[in-house]
Amino acid sequence: MDCIFCKIVKGDIPSNKIYEDDKVLAFHDISPEAPIHFLVIPKEHIKSANDINENNSHIISHIFLVINKLVRELNIAETGYRIVNNCGKDGGQTVDHIHFHVLGQRDLKWSPG
Ligand code: AMP
Ligand code: ZN
Repeated sequence: MDCIFCKIVKGDIPSNKIYEDDKVLAFHDISPEAPIHFLVIPKEHIKSANDINENNSHIISHIFLVINKLVRELNIAETGYRIVNNCGKDGGQTVDHIHFHVLGQRDLKWSPG
């Protein structure tokens, strides 16, 4: 399958990894929107939030535990951060392998426009 994030999981495309275990991978976004901007993805190819189900939702909850650990390590747990999942065309999803953006270390604005 021609999926850029599956290629990152396999190591065919390099990434700036910050965390890895048997289920998930976290790496810095190549085009950061904040001083801290990393992505957390499942190693398994799940296309989008539409494809979360009873069989794979444990991976999604694990992603949130990993985010909880990483924001502490990166010292943004107390100052705050934003977790973003873009889903589908109107959501602005550009890579069809589910991923959670974590943005921090600046005063993020709302709304998304
Ligand atoms: P989205 O628009 O929510 O689908 O987010 C896709 C994100 O993946 C964007 O923020 C891109 O900058 C990021 N991205 C695309 N290719 C790479 C790559 N090779 N390494 C790291 N981040 C990437
Ligand atoms: Zn994939």
